[in-house]
Amino acid sequence: MAVNHHLVMESASVDEGSSAHLSFYRFSFFFLISLLTWSEINTDEASLRVNPKANNQTAMSTSAAQPVKKKKKKIYLTFDDGPNKGTRNVLDILQQENVPATFFIVGEHVFGSRAQAQTWDNLQSARNIEICNHSYSHALHNRYAKFYKNPEAVVKDIERTKEKLLPDDEIVRTPGRNSWRIDSMHFTDIKKSKAAIDSLQKAGFIVVGWDLEWQYDPKTLIIKNSADQLLAQVDSVFNNGKTRTPDNLVLLAHDQAYRTKDDSLQLREFVQKLKEKDEYELSLVNSYPGVTKIIHLPKTKSAPTQ
Ligand SMILES: [Zn+2]
Repeated sequence: MAVNHHLVMESASVDEGSSAHLSFYRFSFFFLISLLTWSEINTDEASLRVNPKANNQTAMSTSAAQPVKKKKKKIYLTFDDGPNKGTRNVLDILQQENVPATFFIVGEHVFGSRAQAQTWDNLQSARNIEICNHSYSHALHNRYAKFYKNPEAVVKDIERTKEKLLPDDEIVRTPGRNSWRIDSMHFTDIKKSKAAIDSLQKAGFIVVGWDLEWQYDPKTLIIKNSADQLLAQVDSVFNNGKTRTPDNLVLLAHDQAYRTKDDSLQLREFVQKLKEKDEYELSLVNSYPGVTKIIHLPKTKSAPTQ
């Protein structure tokens, strides 16, 4: 409207000298002013009509500008095959660093020696530690093809650990197989094992695999990657959307790879660096999406016995 006002004032001043037409110009001037006022009222109405939308846009951009608390990416530290040499080191580090972790234990190992039985007790009394089932015999001592050929025996082997040691746990990690049977995901890495793993699900178990493994040399039991290298892998898996569930990463590690001082130092360093990263949060496997719905098996057996 400012431009129109300016034009009106200019035309009025040009004609100012002519007294004969003064009243005509006065009339014209007031007529124009009236027109302008009418037009301004209508413009105001028009802008009032669009205002709600404009206000909404302002509100939206204001809320977008406010710092929104970003949802953290979840990392599940899982340690397989204990209790064995290394389990105690891992547990000490996790407890000292005050981070949650899930141990997938092998039933037979609990009864292997007095030291292993002691470690089992330590695991049970530790805070923020979850203990889950990694079979009784570890696939007949790593004879995977033979083990998975017999679905019934696989279920029995897993149930043996449940009955003796973990009566309230349904979460299982299959030995030597990265397979998943949870509400949101069914996955079998080696198809020959499918029937056996399906049977576990039918028996009421929840099977959880992994997204990334902290690899170690099976002969020397030495980890292949440093804490920094593993951290870079974690970042990369998340950034490339390679986790099975977005923003959730299950990390597999093996207790026995941390039985030496050097390797357990790397574990401590890895955990400390993870804690420093604000974008990540450490969690227990029982809070993984789709795992929360635990089906309780009917209690058919009495108290656990050896
Ligand atoms: Zn294992």
